[in-house]
Amino acid sequence: MKAYTYIQKGTFQLTEKPKPVLLDDRDAIVKVTMASICSSDLHIKHGSVPRAVPGVTVGHEMVGVVEQVGAKVTAVSPGDRVTVNVETFCGECFFCKNGWVNNCTDPNGGWALGCRIDGGLAEYVRVPYADHGLNRIPHSVTDLQALLVGDVLATGYWAAQISEIREQDTVLIIGAGPTGLCTLQCVRQYHPKRIIVCDVDETRLTFVRKFAPEVIVTAPDGLKELVVDYSDHGGADVVLEVAGTPETFQMAWDCARPNAIVTIVALYDGPQTLPLPEMYGKNLTFKTGGVDGCHCAETLQLIAAGKIDTTPLITHRFVFHEIEKAFSLFEHRLDGVIKVAITMQ
Ligand SMILES: [Zn+2]
Ligand SMILES: [Zn+2]
Repeated sequence: MKAYTYIQKGTFQLTEKPKPVLLDDRDAIVKVTMASICSSDLHIKHGSVPRAVPGVTVGHEMVGVVEQVGAKVTAVSPGDRVTVNVETFCGECFFCKNGWVNNCTDPNGGWALGCRIDGGLAEYVRVPYADHGLNRIPHSVTDLQALLVGDVLATGYWAAQISEIREQDTVLIIGAGPTGLCTLQCVRQYHPKRIIVCDVDETRLTFVRKFAPEVIVTAPDGLKELVVDYSDHGGADVVLEVAGTPETFQMAWDCARPNAIVTIVALYDGPQTLPLPEMYGKNLTFKTGGVDGCHCAETLQLIAAGKIDTTPLITHRFVFHEIEKAFSLFEHRLDGVIKVAITMQ
């Protein structure tokens, strides 16, 4: 079968590989029907994910049809249409039992698919712990609607969930890229009084205006004054930092009111500074990433109920043999791309 493979730093290539087989009773083999590209794939390509293994098939955002299951798999059967979770987790260790599946102690726990074990930019993928790694897609939900459930939407759902959002709150989201937009959709489920979205990119802000007209959108200039104007207590009650630059990290705590929650969803290229003397007395609570992706069933229900729709984020579509073209478009952020969908055929 064809698989998009991490050869070495700077090189991904479409290669021929044997079709995966079951290696454990809890594995499933999934025939991939649609996949996407995530910025974490770019991080692998650029050599900034040291855990990524050269030779691995990349891709960790996909949906498909179960082809084969191991003897101990009970939650899915061959023929089921499923989302594939970016995270592998055993469901049995201390962290899994507490819902902190990102810290699963299994050797393949956390983000393994498309990083340390073969992922989903391929015709077939082996999914370990299939009872936890796969979720059946409701009949009324299309592959395209479900495509982002296992990774970027899971991140948005998790970020909103841990941020303790209340109906009287002003919530600031910094960053309106794919993760920021998924976070926005999930924050809306909590019905806060106001949502403010900040980004440097005017195209993204225009997208938010269309996509969520009730949201206040702004560029970073004058952000703090605007947040104070729209807040009841001198700053945002909740801030979600999804952009990942030193400037946005500073903005995040600076725009927060005393005793606010600041959730750091972003992945940074380097360490950030907490200027504690300046922050003294603000009594902030920081929460940090990565995603505990164990709520895909709930997210699929929200999609089925029409409460979440990520299809407007999918701006471009390709077929698998055009993967190089799709990757290049996404990597260089051409033509206003937010997310791509790749049909595997
Ligand atoms: Zn990802
Ligand atoms: Zn575990």
